[in-house]
Amino acid sequence: MAEQTPDPDVGQTHADSLEALAARVAVCTRCPLAATRTQTVFGEGNPDAPLVIVGEGPGEQEDQTGRPFVGRAGMLLDECLLANGITRRHVYICNAVKCRACIIEGRRARNRPPTPDEMAACYPWLTEQLGILRPLVILSVGAPSAKTLIDPAFQIMRQRGQWRDGGAHCRHIMAVLHPAFILRHGGEEFERLRQTLIDDIGSARRKVIEAKKQPQPALF
Ligand code: SF4
Repeated sequence: MAEQTPDPDVGQTHADSLEALAARVAVCTRCPLAATRTQTVFGEGNPDAPLVIVGEGPGEQEDQTGRPFVGRAGMLLDECLLANGITRRHVYICNAVKCRACIIEGRRARNRPPTPDEMAACYPWLTEQLGILRPLVILSVGAPSAKTLIDPAFQIMRQRGQWRDGGAHCRHIMAVLHPAFILRHGGEEFERLRQTLIDDIGSARRKVIEAKKQPQPALF
């Protein structure tokens, strides 16, 4: 029997393609993070979502569960999505780096940011993943994600909330504050930053609605 040609316009095929890619990522040893991970954290959510959220990389709880954005930062992200009527069933969530970056201190492992080399090593996986998902809109969460997807010189505090052309990845992309960064603040500043994230997600929701009304660019 002839092999079935995957049709990227069919939702089930997106899921199948993502599953096949996740299996390849699960055994990746392209960078040193493979040696300390419990498991890769590929991503989850609606494979046909018009909105994809891309964070930096897994932390301890993500490494343990295999799921992106769990723990306190994930709860805050969920809360800010929900404030806009969005749940995880509406979006797809992943990270720029698929393995936890950590420093081993005695018998403990402490989270650290992935190095530029580690992010570069993982970038082809992210590109392939976004190529399957083909979202209309990407929210790039936190500075490392924005430096990977938008501009290596990206300044998150100055440039977040600004819409840009998504290039090869999507139609529109915008960077937002990372919920883990927001959680490092207290009192009124925490509330201000949390509201900023809610407002930026609201802007993304409107951008998706707007993008859905625009005609798809024809190949021929
Ligand atoms: Fe492979 Fe990415 Fe994990 Fe490095 S971080 S081992 S490139 S999957």
